[in-house]
Amino acid sequence: MYHLPELTPSVNIRRIAVLTSGGDAPGMNAAIRAVARAALHQGIDVLGIQRGYSGLVEADIRPLTSPLVGNILQRGGTLLKSDRCEEFHKPAVRWQGYEHLREMEVDGLVVIGGDGSLAGARQFAAETNFPLVVLPATIDNDIEGSDETIGFDTAANTGLDAIDRIRDTANSHQRLFLVEVMGRDSGFLATEVGIAGGAEMILVPEQAIDLDRVSESLKQGDSSARPSSRIIVVAEGRKPGRTQRLAQALTERGFNPQVCILGHIQRGGNPSARDRVLASCLGAVAVKVLQAGQGGCLLGVENRHLVQRPLADLGERLPLDPALLELAQLIQQ
Ligand code: ADP
Repeated sequence: MYHLPELTPSVNIRRIAVLTSGGDAPGMNAAIRAVARAALHQGIDVLGIQRGYSGLVEADIRPLTSPLVGNILQRGGTLLKSDRCEEFHKPAVRWQGYEHLREMEVDGLVVIGGDGSLAGARQFAAETNFPLVVLPATIDNDIEGSDETIGFDTAANTGLDAIDRIRDTANSHQRLFLVEVMGRDSGFLATEVGIAGGAEMILVPEQAIDLDRVSESLKQGDSSARPSSRIIVVAEGRKPGRTQRLAQALTERGFNPQVCILGHIQRGGNPSARDRVLASCLGAVAVKVLQAGQGGCLLGVENRHLVQRPLADLGERLPLDPALLELAQLIQQ
């Protein structure tokens, strides 16, 4: 469980808006529900902005009521829909979004999304000074300023379930499997799934694949101490086809790898208890942060405490600790 911050209301907030942006993550619905319910309980109107920043710039905004956010806590995806909005990179377009909020007499905004959405929110807040709170929601878990992100735990468990199943077949046929998990720039998901699933090797996007090292390590496994199955977890990386290229290269070196690409199944599904609790706490506290007049921040988790970090202080995405990969390597055989 989390320690919640003590926040004293100091601003009269009458209406807030909430949006989900970027890649969807299981638990976004739980966060929307918590924002809406926490606000409505205090007589604050809540508006739901559809399709992330696209809905903000197009004024696709509708009132949220308590029944509308009922029965969504347990569902993956997002009631409000999500989108990637290229136009939001333009200052004039962001300003248009700001004007829509002013026209609708919105006093505060909650943005639920990943590192791209955070970057957009930071620009928007810097230019308009509009009070907003960002809640970290991404299966990548790579947001600086938060130890945890909404959706990561569920996605890791989905990936783990797949690996456990693949392991059965890999064991039965003494096969080598390359299992591709999501993660274009960040290897947190691959590392979590790889350690939890006992992968023989974990290949993250932060490091180029060293083919000699991979095949050397696999040859070691071909000795008398050969394990009955081998699973390499590969993060997808930025350039599509990373795992297929690796499989091809390994085939040329005499191995017989099977490829399994988990793809989008990792994004969907019912959020885990942990993601629901995280999203619920972050959503409810976001409203208090706005009421305390402390917008312009990311609300995240540090050492089990919900903490606010000023958006202006946040830098690039959270780096993966290479010691985790060394640990995984150490216990692989
Ligand atoms: P995620 O939030 O899951 O990381 P994206 O990286 O696709 O997803 O970002 C979501 C959206 O945030 C983008 O489609 C864009 O509208 C907005 N965004 C991302 N980076 C910036 C930026 N530097 N400036 C303004 N808006 C941005």
